[in-house]
Amino acid sequence: MFIKEIAIGLSLALIIFISIMGYDLTPLLFILAATVGLYFLARVRGLVGQKNFNDASGYRGTSFTDIGGQDSAIVELKEALDFIRNYKDIKGLGIRPLKGILLTGPPGTGKTLLARAAAGYTDAAFISASGSEFIEMYAGVGAQRVRRLFQEAREIAFRQKKSNAIIFVDEIEILGGKRGKAVGHMEYDQTLNQLLVEMDGLKVEDDIRVLLVAATNRVDMLDPALLRPGRFDRMVKVDLPDKEGRLSVLKLHTRNKPLADDVELEVIARETFGFSGAHLESLANEAAILAMREGCTKISQHHFSESIDKVMMGGKLDKQPSRSEMKRVAVHETGHALLGEMVRPGSVSAVTITPRGDALGYMRQSPEDDTYLYTKDYLESQIAIMLGGAVAEEVLLGNRSTGSTNDLEQAMCTADVIVRAGMSKLGVICPESLPRELKHQALTEIVREQEQRVKEVVARLSPALDQAVELLLEKEKITGDQFRSILNKITDGVWV
Ligand code: ATP
Repeated sequence: MFIKEIAIGLSLALIIFISIMGYDLTPLLFILAATVGLYFLARVRGLVGQKNFNDASGYRGTSFTDIGGQDSAIVELKEALDFIRNYKDIKGLGIRPLKGILLTGPPGTGKTLLARAAAGYTDAAFISASGSEFIEMYAGVGAQRVRRLFQEAREIAFRQKKSNAIIFVDEIEILGGKRGKAVGHMEYDQTLNQLLVEMDGLKVEDDIRVLLVAATNRVDMLDPALLRPGRFDRMVKVDLPDKEGRLSVLKLHTRNKPLADDVELEVIARETFGFSGAHLESLANEAAILAMREGCTKISQHHFSESIDKVMMGGKLDKQPSRSEMKRVAVHETGHALLGEMVRPGSVSAVTITPRGDALGYMRQSPEDDTYLYTKDYLESQIAIMLGGAVAEEVLLGNRSTGSTNDLEQAMCTADVIVRAGMSKLGVICPESLPRELKHQALTEIVREQEQRVKEVVARLSPALDQAVELLLEKEKITGDQFRSILNKITDGVWV
């Protein structure tokens, strides 16, 4: 532990002794300077004195019950981990040990949490690193770090008197990308080769059994050698949570927060389609911050509602558009809302003209249910909603603006999905050999048809739009219920 200090002390004592004896110190000082120089050079290159990997003793509290919405991933992972827990039976049956588990899925879905919980479940020492920690400019450093990682895992397990160690490597695609792809030097390849060597060296009869758990969002980038049997034997998919999953994640992240009686977590779960666990954690946190800013002792539904906007679109911006621009934004967003209600009554949850992120305003619609397959009707309705903003600007203000560019791009992309799926007038097609002109015609025909439909709706209900725009300009944000009550009032409830 004190080797450096002892060495420095001994060197000084030697120098003093030699100078007292009357010898010439110049050669000695030269050697000393060269040694120190070499040491620092090696340090810069990462060959000595690297930082240790994360011994994550502090994470020991994480268990599978702290992870929401990943039931099937947990079952699969536990099955794999039981190989480690019951290693004696496995040894008896001559089963080869499990060397690696690969967690794949979008960011923020709980892969790191699963790895931490795995360590608790198997009573293993846990050490974590990120793929980027292994890649350096200098050849050989990454490979050396891989060796060190496995060595350190064993040392930590030994110190903690554990017979298992779990190494968690996040972003494995950086270190385990396909070989031969990195241009310029072979550092990447050497690092991966070393990882393969280490994995091949893991044996069931080892005193400390090491399991490598890795996570990636880009399984397509991994070298096939990593994925072959005997390396990462199990691949566990960690997907975005469905509605029930989102509800259980919300329950987990609100269990330590005081909630007002009006909070309905089911409604929040429904409105947060596409949110990952990390988004939901941030949502619960933002809602609590908002409640604190407003001086409330409990978090209410409107705090959550506001926070969904923040997590989805980003924080409020200081930029304040001119009054005429605000009006255009209000018209645009109510146009979207009108078509949203038309397509699925009761679905609009909020319309706002508060600038957030890149948007000057937006309309939020709650998805009816998690949907994974889309019909032609559904896709056409989505195109109609996308066109609602531009058409409302045209009908109410006399012209369109550049604010619709993104909507039109999305409308074309959706039309493209219809064509590719063989649901357009062209029938089943081969997208690659479809002439550009024909494709262009098919896309514009789909979009124009919806444009006509939207024009008719907007013209018929423009008095309701006018009122909604006025209220929106006054309040900056209106709820779906407020919007619907205007529609009902103007049309006596017969507007669909
Ligand atoms: P990345 O791929 O970006 O590394 P990840 O999948 O490893 O992300 P985590 O680091 O495990 O995601 O999650 C980040 C945070 O999000 C967690 O600390 C936790 O607060 C929250 N979280 C994510 N998924 C879940 C979940 N399924 N249940 C509860 N909390 C979750």
